[in-house]
Amino acid sequence: MIERYDWLLFDADDTLFHFDGSLGLEALFNSFDAVFTPDDFKQFQTLNKPLWDQYAQGLVTADEVQIRRFVPLAQRFGVTAEQLNSDFIDAMAELCEPLPGALNLVHALSERVQLGIITNGFTELQDRRMRRVGFDRHFDLLVISEQVGVAKPHLDIFEHAFARMNNPARERILMVGDNLHTDVAGGRNAGIDTCWLNHHGKAAPAELQPTYEVSNLLQLHQLLLGAA
Ligand SMILES: [Mg+2]
Repeated sequence: MIERYDWLLFDADDTLFHFDGSLGLEALFNSFDAVFTPDDFKQFQTLNKPLWDQYAQGLVTADEVQIRRFVPLAQRFGVTAEQLNSDFIDAMAELCEPLPGALNLVHALSERVQLGIITNGFTELQDRRMRRVGFDRHFDLLVISEQVGVAKPHLDIFEHAFARMNNPARERILMVGDNLHTDVAGGRNAGIDTCWLNHHGKAAPAELQPTYEVSNLLQLHQLLLGAA
């Protein structure tokens, strides 16, 4: 049913790219000759996750997320939080992997529709990942919340994307993402169709029902284009 759409907008992390912060942190710890334990990851997430939620709500800036999450570790390792954040992004760029089916799907779709990304991730990592997997050649649009100044699900980041797409008809746009609260809620609120990449078989509440739901990118490929 790809004929229904002129534009497909994708989220990046855990939609096109596998994002495992614990691998990046482990590389960081190793560079300081420190052993990385599950407890270290838990402690980091205790700080990191709420910061991301606050960022999506517009309560903290991208800079604040990037720095504040590394303050305790910076003290432990005797370096600045800025340095740790930068090392972490380097590690994540090195470790980045497209999700199973992502390369095929993007290649096939790029011959049929225009493709964009709207991500709440950070600029430095996006550009490097796009080039690393060759997506820079296939995507017509990359919208990064850090650059726009507001994050998904805020309407403004979608309006910003639509303007850069020359305002196509909204019913000809589909937003695909793994996060109900940023991707699906944001897309619905912006008046476009949504597809929830529901990796963990959760149930969507009534007010956040996506237009479509799939559990992986192979299913999405099947839904949009027929057999992969
Ligand atoms: Mg995501």
